[in-house]
Amino acid sequence: MIGDPVEHSLSPAIHNAAFAAAGLDWRCVALAVRAGDVPAALTGVRAMGLRGLSVTMPHKAAVLDGVDRLSPAATALGSVNCIVVRGGQLIGANTDGEGFVRGVQDDFGWSPEGAVCVVLGAGGAARAVVRSLAAAGAAEVVVVNRSVERARTAAQLAGAQGRVGDVSDVVRAQLVVNATPVGMGTDAAVPLDPDLLGAQHLVAELIYHPPRTALMTAAAARGARTANGISMLVHQAAVAFEHWTGVEAPVETMRSAAAAALSADTTPA
Ligand code: NAP
Repeated sequence: MIGDPVEHSLSPAIHNAAFAAAGLDWRCVALAVRAGDVPAALTGVRAMGLRGLSVTMPHKAAVLDGVDRLSPAATALGSVNCIVVRGGQLIGANTDGEGFVRGVQDDFGWSPEGAVCVVLGAGGAARAVVRSLAAAGAAEVVVVNRSVERARTAAQLAGAQGRVGDVSDVVRAQLVVNATPVGMGTDAAVPLDPDLLGAQHLVAELIYHPPRTALMTAAAARGARTANGISMLVHQAAVAFEHWTGVEAPVETMRSAAAAALSADTTPA
């Protein structure tokens, strides 16, 4: 994997646990690559015959120009988090959105099909979530964001199912996703008035540090079911693992490895 910084990345722990569980003699190594060195790093991937590459911040857009092909998700999002090497070609993919949808299915035993979903935030993570919720059949994907212009761009990723809204849309939603950094680390703030939430809601945080945010606590106190961002993290890695290896990902092993790595490192990137 490449990024900058990479010291606190959970990806090597998650992938190496998965390779071991699947009996594959593969390794994931975190390599810090400076911004201007991304093209050289991709040349290195080709030269060394690597099978794949996980890509994290700040290189998710920079690798777009260095790959041979892009998946539909990477094209739509303008962002690559996973490169698959096939027949000597580098294929840029983005597994975040599919990882999110698999995560909510895993956490809640629930499918977005026919549902009204509210996504708070319109950044890179929100955009992936919005697109994939629509692809998974959500009836409506409502984007609520500080900057309305960014909300509009994100909502367009959901096509006819997407629109810009405000927090009043939460009352008629089944799924509420926090894709803002509000509540991360020591921030005890919540991104919306929790009194809008009730037993009919599934509240999915993308934050996993802390594992239980103020929003999750407030939502649970009002009867909502809640989950943190570990599922998206694990499932986006699982989709990447499957692209690289062609083997079904050992998701529970990956989840345990993520949890162990997180508790060993209290300052994940
Ligand atoms: P980003 O591109 O920087 O976008 C952040 C979004 O949050 C923007 O829409 C921004 O609004 C909004 N925002 C920021 N501060 C806010 C505040 N104080 N109040 C209201 N809105 C605020 O970030 P990102 O990469 O999408 O990440 C968003 C969150 O998802 C982070 O917590 C990140 O850790 C998490 N994440 C989790 C995973 C996972 O696998 N679990 C993966 C990726 C990201 P404006 O547009 O108005 O600036």
